[in-house]
Amino acid sequence: MVKDTKFYDLLGVSPSASDTELKKAYRKAALKYHPDKNPSPEAAEKFKELSSAYEVLSDDQKRDIYDQYGEEGLSGAGGPGGMGADDIFSQFFGGGFGGMGGQQPRGPQRGKDIKHSISCTLEELYKGRTAKLALNKTILCKTCEGRGGKEGKIKKCTTCNGSGFKFVTRQMGPMIQRFQTTCDVCQGSGDICDPKDRCQDCKGKKTQSERKILQVNIDPGMKDGQRIVFAGEGDQEPGIVPGDVVFVVDEKPHEKFTRKANDLYYEAEIDLLTSLAGGEVAFKHVSGDYIKFTIFPGEVISPDSVKVVENQGMPIYRQGGRGNLFIKFTVKFPSKGFASEEKLKLLEDVLPARAKVTVPKGAEVDDCDLVDVDPIKHKANNRRDAYDSDDEEGGGQPGVQCASQ
Ligand SMILES: [Zn+2]
Ligand SMILES: [Zn+2]
Repeated sequence: MVKDTKFYDLLGVSPSASDTELKKAYRKAALKYHPDKNPSPEAAEKFKELSSAYEVLSDDQKRDIYDQYGEEGLSGAGGPGGMGADDIFSQFFGGGFGGMGGQQPRGPQRGKDIKHSISCTLEELYKGRTAKLALNKTILCKTCEGRGGKEGKIKKCTTCNGSGFKFVTRQMGPMIQRFQTTCDVCQGSGDICDPKDRCQDCKGKKTQSERKILQVNIDPGMKDGQRIVFAGEGDQEPGIVPGDVVFVVDEKPHEKFTRKANDLYYEAEIDLLTSLAGGEVAFKHVSGDYIKFTIFPGEVISPDSVKVVENQGMPIYRQGGRGNLFIKFTVKFPSKGFASEEKLKLLEDVLPARAKVTVPKGAEVDDCDLVDVDPIKHKANNRRDAYDSDDEEGGGQPGVQCASQ
């Protein structure tokens, strides 16, 4: 059988076009041939054809039938012509179902996913943990199994054909708008039931509320933003496929450690003696254990240097092994006046010699004093201030004063 592609051809798209492509193509063509824009009878005919084609192709079920059996296949399935071209047009351009791209509900719909964020410390993500979380959810009434009444006593509402809502078409000037309203015959339930046959437990509502405990397993190495999905645990409602309950890992910032993927970063402070003459360093890891290592005499750990302890990072999720632990060192220097002048002389025997000070021959030398920074007196000047204060500072061009900072 030769595949019928007439509808696609009308819209100027390929039979594999996506919904978005179809929508775009229809929008473009409909605006061109709409009777308001183009009053010729040919355009009116074309507009009708376009709208029929779009009505079929924008409906997944009808599109399937069309793709398999062509236009003929649609005659029995409420094919094109079910809706007027104007209805489709107004539906498309925001007249009816809540804006662009709105579509008639059809087939089993999928319920909403329910998202929860689950806060985890780095320690918890290292070791893993199990959290039990209580969830209030809507389930189908257990007594009537979601029917709302006695079996066989529920009739489908004929006014809305069981959908619970109906469409009202209203003419507003040149535009025809279609509105969706709750069916007044069945009050939106989609079916009719004699009050005596109604389910006593849910009062015909078909659903009830249930408290459910979900056990959430945080596995070692899970990361911020990672999702733990409980498929189909969302709210139940008649005629819909329940959505998922999704927990999203929210990693709490750690006081000492930062994490980048599977690696950990730690800032360790060591004293000057340890950095030069060696010593031991220890600190608590997110695993709960202590990390201990030795700095060897003469190894010399300079301030801001970074070293790594291999395989002491975070566990690698579901793969085994661990990332690395990076350690950035800060060196704590002794405070002012920590040793006498004579004692300090001893350092000259130990430390590498001082760097030689060289001033080119004949250069003018300003002998300056070094003082402590006074936050008020030495407040950082911006450029303008520097110029403004030229006079007070007694001459000198900005930037060439003998500054201590
Ligand atoms: Zn109804
Ligand atoms: Zn019930």
